[in-house]
Amino acid sequence: AVPTAVMVSTGRGAAFGILIKGGEALQRMEKIDTVVLDKTGTITTGRPQVTDVLGIAQNEAGSDTADAAIRIAAALERASEHPLAEAIVRYAREHELSLSQPEEFESLPGLGVLGRVDGDSAMVGNAALMEKFGVSTDSLLSAAMRYAEEGKTPLWIAVNGKLAAMIAVADTIKPTSLAAIRQLHAEGLRVVMLTGDNERTAQAIARTVGVDEVIAGVLPAGKVEAIQRIQAERRLVAMVGDGVNDAPALAQSDVGLTMANGADIAMEAGDVTLMRNDLTGVATAIALSRNTMRVIR
Ligand code: ADP
Ligand code: MG
Repeated sequence: AVPTAVMVSTGRGAAFGILIKGGEALQRMEKIDTVVLDKTGTITTGRPQVTDVLGIAQNEAGSDTADAAIRIAAALERASEHPLAEAIVRYAREHELSLSQPEEFESLPGLGVLGRVDGDSAMVGNAALMEKFGVSTDSLLSAAMRYAEEGKTPLWIAVNGKLAAMIAVADTIKPTSLAAIRQLHAEGLRVVMLTGDNERTAQAIARTVGVDEVIAGVLPAGKVEAIQRIQAERRLVAMVGDGVNDAPALAQSDVGLTMANGADIAMEAGDVTLMRNDLTGVATAIALSRNTMRVIR
């Protein structure tokens, strides 16, 4: 039978906006020593904005080259549901660029998108995508590193196999993230960031919020392996995420926590739903579990 203390604590959690699926999950949280946080949509709001655009021929032709590249990129991104894609499409609309219907489209999860627009072959995505197709990013690399150092995500646009532009996209850190991570540290927990974004951007955001360790540049399938590697060190892992990409890692972790406004599949994979859509409930949930188990013994 579920002890009364577990039922009482589950109810108390609910009052804090922490929905725990069953007493077993509450009991498992007691021994958690590592909290793994997804970046986009978990530490940050997940509603990125385009902040800077650099065309390859900026010096000669001004911003026209960049506009042409953005127009092609946004036409492709219209077919993607990624938050970065939405940011690029919004930017194009705000600049009143007309968007064609792509003739071909393919999405490469964790890398970007590619296809054909108005007869031109094009792709938009991260450095790994450019590398995969042999597109050199040298001419805009130092600018990209500067943006990444500010916590912005650099995205590359290539047209007909050549670099055309770079876009910097910034996501906002949730105002509660810093304090919530402090609270996790106060509970003696190790805090890890797990993201598909690039290392430099991830490190900049990690520094701002005080995360202990960063695992970046992870393809969606790699998130599960990352959790397994931590578990292989005999650590007990709570994973916090919001996206479709996070669902397998949430299922793999010892306790999975998800944002209420996240993807349905993530919520199904998790044991705890955070109704306030931020990290404030994580330390509270673990503390609640520890107190409950102490009462029972
Ligand atoms: P996250 O862990 O941040 O949710 P994802 O696996 O969704 O990461 O994406 C990782 C990286 O892949 C992004 O930071 C971006 O560089 C690139 N990427 C993914 N989808 C797209 C897209 N539709 N357009 C451009 N870049 C993309
Ligand atoms: Mg996310």
